[in-house]
Amino acid sequence: MKSFGYAAQSKSAPLAPWHFDRRDPGPTDVVVSIDFCGICHSDIHQARGEWGRDLFPMVPGHEIIGRVIAIGSDVKKFKVGDRAAVGVIVESCLHCDNCRKDLEVYCSDGGAVDTYNATLRSGERTYGGYADTIVTPEHFVHTLSPKFKDAALPAAAPLLCAGITTYSPLRHWGAGPGKKVGIVGLGGLGHLALKFAHAFGAHVVQFTTSASKIDDAKKLGADDVILTKDPESLKKHTGSFDFILDCVSAPHDMDALLGQLKLDGTLCLVGLPEVPLSVQPFSLLANRRSLAGSAIGGMKETQEMLDFCADHNIVADIEMTTYDKVNEAYERVVKGDVKYRFVLDNSALRQR
Ligand code: NAP
Ligand code: ZN
Repeated sequence: MKSFGYAAQSKSAPLAPWHFDRRDPGPTDVVVSIDFCGICHSDIHQARGEWGRDLFPMVPGHEIIGRVIAIGSDVKKFKVGDRAAVGVIVESCLHCDNCRKDLEVYCSDGGAVDTYNATLRSGERTYGGYADTIVTPEHFVHTLSPKFKDAALPAAAPLLCAGITTYSPLRHWGAGPGKKVGIVGLGGLGHLALKFAHAFGAHVVQFTTSASKIDDAKKLGADDVILTKDPESLKKHTGSFDFILDCVSAPHDMDALLGQLKLDGTLCLVGLPEVPLSVQPFSLLANRRSLAGSAIGGMKETQEMLDFCADHNIVADIEMTTYDKVNEAYERVVKGDVKYRFVLDNSALRQR
């Protein structure tokens, strides 16, 4: 299938227009005409080769919202014209223990296949949402409640990665009434984590390196804010958190965060800096602390998260941008100069 989008041709090349072929749709596939795509920091890590597992040319983008323009003969959930959303993965085995528990992202038989920068079991490459269309198996396409008004659709796009990546661990570790929860890094993931933890009824404290974000954090639902560069600010909360979700994209001090956990507390990483992070074992022994990680979430939970957001009026805080400014947007994300997620308008890609 002919497609058009923006691709990086190498890890040092800027994103530029690219015509390419996608796989043809089969009986279980949905073809989505893409309206909006969020810019995740993972797009930047991968397009710049920071994780060292990059396939070029690369069309990034895994926060995708659009409309169904064609369906395969076996598709049940969608009809042409429906709204649809695609997130971070587009294939898994669907029969291993983890897939059967609706945890496709942890597929133990060949693994989950990413929406872009990956290879399907058929040997074909995947290309993401910085494009006019995408072909995805129905199982990996989500419905969007009509409770999301049209005007809210661009801001719903980041839910497909930043949303589920923070919703899933907050649910898994029981963020809710009576729990003290920390969110580290007020970026794309962090600001949605803050909204979720607040909506779930936890006492939420935002950790930030940016003094300029303190007021915003409070408006977004933080009961308190820790400026991580200020030792006094950290000292006040030492040993008091049940759960901390670390959404930081760059290397940072893990021991300082572990020290904030109370007995049996957990620090969960969702941020993926390009270099290993060091941990002092004594930081874990004290208070019998746990260090954990979490990857996006399963398809059932992603749908649950989207429906929760529609019911509770939760979307991302976004800045709309266009493809001619996508490279500038990348620079601004790396500098932390966006409140709090860029979303690309894909309509221009269809008018080529
Ligand atoms: P982002 O919008 O750039 O936000 C990252 C935030 O981290 C920044 O806003 C900043 O917050 C903080 N930060 C940046 N540099 C820092 C430093 N040197 N020290 C301490 N804090 C720093 O990125 P994002 O899109 O939210 O993604 C965050 C990370 O999650 C990325 O590494 C991404 O690849 C990863 N990710 C993981 C998954 C998963 O499944 N686990 C899914 C999606 C993304 P403050 O200004 O508040 O300090
Ligand atoms: Zn992402």
